[in-house]
Amino acid sequence: MSPKKVVISGAGLSGLTLGTALAQRGWDVQILERSAELREIGAGLYTWENGLKVLEDIGVYEDIREHVELITKLDMIDEHQELIHSTPFSSNSRFCVIPRNIVYGGLTRAASRAGVQIETSSNVTAACPSGEVTLENGKTYKADLVVGADGIYSNIRNSLNITKTFERVNNGAVRALIPRLEADSVAHAKEHWSGSRRIGISPTSPSHMYVYLTASSSDEEALSDPLNKEAWISSFPHLETLIKRIDQTRLDRHFYYVFMDKWSSGRALVLGDAAHGMEPNLGQGAGVSITSALELAKQLENHDIDNALDRWETLMRPTVQHTQMWSRIYGSAAAHWPKELLGIRNEVIRKALGSEDVDLMLSTAARHITGL
Ligand SMILES: Cc1cc2nc3c(=O)[nH]c(=O)nc-3n(C[C@H](O)[C@H](O)[C@H](O)COP(=O)(O)OP(=O)(O)OC[C@H]3O[C@@H](n4cnc5c(N)ncnc54)[C@H](O)[C@@H]3O)c2cc1C
Repeated sequence: MSPKKVVISGAGLSGLTLGTALAQRGWDVQILERSAELREIGAGLYTWENGLKVLEDIGVYEDIREHVELITKLDMIDEHQELIHSTPFSSNSRFCVIPRNIVYGGLTRAASRAGVQIETSSNVTAACPSGEVTLENGKTYKADLVVGADGIYSNIRNSLNITKTFERVNNGAVRALIPRLEADSVAHAKEHWSGSRRIGISPTSPSHMYVYLTASSSDEEALSDPLNKEAWISSFPHLETLIKRIDQTRLDRHFYYVFMDKWSSGRALVLGDAAHGMEPNLGQGAGVSITSALELAKQLENHDIDNALDRWETLMRPTVQHTQMWSRIYGSAAAHWPKELLGIRNEVIRKALGSEDVDLMLSTAARHITGL
């Protein structure tokens, strides 16, 4: 019997993870990527227990482990440098911040080892439920399954007749990698809060620290390119030296959410940001996406395609919905807390994060186990 064939639009983190996991299970995998070359831009990638488990499962972790610095605690600190909350990590609830290019490099090597074929400069414009994709140049491909892992602006999602909501959120971020100094913390990540601005800093490699600065989109002083260092120093005077070290930055003035009634239609489906884009406040957008990719591959290994798609969505939806909801709550508390109530924010957050129920909800994605 000839192997089942899947055509995936998009060689991002989701597409590469699904492609690799399916090729490892005997599928004939073809990935079509719009860009002329394979590369991931960005800085560090918050990666939690779920993401690390996926990378281990598909053989990426072993390849990149020398670049992984496990974090032992993540501290949330207020503008007076008082600790609001500290999250400890252990060997079964791991957390780290890996440079994106390292994760991406590991994924492309794993895909190649598994026999995935990747075609660059291939702009996919549409898919149909019969399992066909169409490219901009008019070419079509037919497969047992076609997948839109083509990101937040997904052409495949937009071509399928499934109800969806695309929402632009008034929060944004600046990201950067800065050279690491001897005095920088080891295995310790911090998130500093001041008014509606936040600065996160964590080790990401022996040579670099990852820094993100988030604010409301209406705070144009904060979300500027080049970075307005004086504006940030005025909110975080104690971080002046760190802010002055920031050089090249990447700016996202807005974040986006995608909500869909269903992630598949016949033999076509959407995966990752294309299906459930979210604000990055919990650092789980990619984590949930690659978890979903592995979940899908495992369901397809054990069930016929129709059943597998139903089971996949039933298993993944609660994790995705919880993560989207709590990401929104976190982002609102950070950037849109009423000014006149800022005096009680620390106490509310301290109580909330100290509650076992809230902790369980915030860590839903990190605790997701695939293939149950
Ligand atoms: C500021 C910020 C910080 C973040 N931080 C984190 C974090 O710390 N941890 C975390 O887990 N997540 C984080 N995320 C979220 C994470 O980046 C995304 O969830 C993740 O990149 C989604 O991967 P994807 O493969 O689904 O989509 P994408 O990464 O968008 O990949 C889509 C791929 O499809 C290709 N493509 C697009 N259109 C076409 C087409 N028409 N034809 C063919 N190919 C196409 C693109 O070129 C790309 O290669 C962050 C996001 C932002 C904005």
